[in-house]
Amino acid sequence: MQRFHRVTDLPIDAARSERFTSFDLVPRALSAVERAGYVTPTAIQRLVVPLLLAGFDVVGQSQTGTGKTAAFALPIISAIDVDAPMVQAIVLVPTRELCLQVTGEFRKLGADRGVRALAVYGGTALVPQADALRRGVHVVVGTPGRVLDQIRRGPLDLRSASWVVLDECDEMLDMGFIEDIDAIVRSTPDRRQTALFSATLPPFVLEVAHQYLHDPEFVNVDPGQATAVEIDQCFCEVLEDDKVRALRCLTRMQGSDGHMLVFRRTQRGVDWLVRRLAAVAGLRIEGLHGAMGQGQRESTMRAFRDGEINVLIATNVAARGLDISRVTHVLNYDLPQTAEEYVHRVGRTGRAGRKGTAVTFVGEWDGEVFEEIRRRVGRGLRQIDLALYGDSEPAVATG
Ligand code: AMP
Repeated sequence: MQRFHRVTDLPIDAARSERFTSFDLVPRALSAVERAGYVTPTAIQRLVVPLLLAGFDVVGQSQTGTGKTAAFALPIISAIDVDAPMVQAIVLVPTRELCLQVTGEFRKLGADRGVRALAVYGGTALVPQADALRRGVHVVVGTPGRVLDQIRRGPLDLRSASWVVLDECDEMLDMGFIEDIDAIVRSTPDRRQTALFSATLPPFVLEVAHQYLHDPEFVNVDPGQATAVEIDQCFCEVLEDDKVRALRCLTRMQGSDGHMLVFRRTQRGVDWLVRRLAAVAGLRIEGLHGAMGQGQRESTMRAFRDGEINVLIATNVAARGLDISRVTHVLNYDLPQTAEEYVHRVGRTGRAGRKGTAVTFVGEWDGEVFEEIRRRVGRGLRQIDLALYGDSEPAVATG
């Protein structure tokens, strides 16, 4: 039978475990947490860290932005034998960007213990990656295709892996990685601890949990209680032909200190919009999508993270799982295709307790999906008027 833990299920003192020191983590993991500036464990961390430390397999339903990476990274970092230069944990993620981000979190939180983490993802040269693996790493974070490739070629040996994490599992399965995941998990020992995280738990994800996890504990953090995230969610009705004008209006309201992530459905849509907006005075605007070279994707991401880009226009795939605490505004320029996708996109802002604004353009053909989103979000979604169609129409930016 499934046991669902929710934040409210916790015994009173555990629910009040407001400090990382209440967890049974080794001192060098705690010191890294402190240096990272994490003061209070997030809801998912309060639930997952003790369960993983106690040796349970865990299924966690939660979004990115809730601190779930640290929730699984900390128990692993705490338990790794740093003197053994072999892979002790494998974390599978759907995208290259998430791969780099999760690796970064392991490096940050594992620094004081000397934990070595390596990102193994496609689109980069195989040989240097293989060399790094042969030199000995403790944690591999990778995308399924490339991880399997490195196993089959020889440099990656998972027979010593005591932990397997399937991160953003619904997304990995949607991307068709099930066979790769199966082959990878089968190359790890039967006696291992496995954790699965997913924003949604449809039957095909539960099936995977059933296959690879041993009597797991289920943890659910409702988006509402996920973090102290404050996202102001609003929508405005805009005719397709007026969307560029509406976006310009928003960028003016956001100002040059803002950092907006704009979602488009297609790569061509991204390129087109970047060209259309190129002339907006004083703002740096860039695009991000899967057809760009890996080097370019990474340098764009870095520039956005460093605050050099004001408006990043991206497809879902490129922006999936990104953790950029700088994002002040998310704009659904094209309506997401499902309410699920909406939740993922909007979760890119208001991260780690900061305030954020999510704006959704609702065009003339968007009725049905928008109603689904509206039902899901409820009263939190309010309508705004950009005054595009009245006398008070703001001037269009020139330049
Ligand atoms: P994640 O959900 O793992 O993508 O984490 C979202 C962001 O929250 C990342 O920038 C983390 O560095 C940050 N974070 C994780 N745990 C905490 C915490 N307990 N307090 C503050 N920030 C945190």
